[in-house]
Amino acid sequence: MSEIVGAQQTAAQAYFCPKCGSPSLRQTSKFVTEQNRLPVHCDACQWDGDQSQLAVAPFKHEFKSDDDIAQGMMTDLRNVLAKTAAVTYGRFLLKWGFLDQPISAVQLAHYMDSIARAVVKTIIETRKAMAEEKSRERAGVPRAPGTQDR
Ligand SMILES: [Zn+2]
Repeated sequence: MSEIVGAQQTAAQAYFCPKCGSPSLRQTSKFVTEQNRLPVHCDACQWDGDQSQLAVAPFKHEFKSDDDIAQGMMTDLRNVLAKTAAVTYGRFLLKWGFLDQPISAVQLAHYMDSIARAVVKTIIETRKAMAEEKSRERAGVPRAPGTQDR
């Protein structure tokens, strides 16, 4: 089911507090310790430690191994849509000429499948973009690569 997630994955990493799982981490010093570690503080639970202790979630792996979750989400959403919105989508597709009359349940089910797939894909991509944005803010890296001052 990797086609749901898409092929263009970045290898960005998100860091989380090992104690409470919060992403509200702050580098407390610009200087590494004697053990060559960067001191980090968690604003959520006041944990103190160093960067090597942080929980790391590499997006690439996170979202690849989440294929099962994506598949589960898709099935779940398709069932929800079939129960709650099949008539609405059926009317909509009919109105725009995407459904033949008489309405074929198989054809409608096919559309519901694609709709659920597309929605889940968008949700995952949005979530990924939000996580990347968060980690960029934390790292202090400019939003748009290539636009930084020289
Ligand atoms: Zn914490």
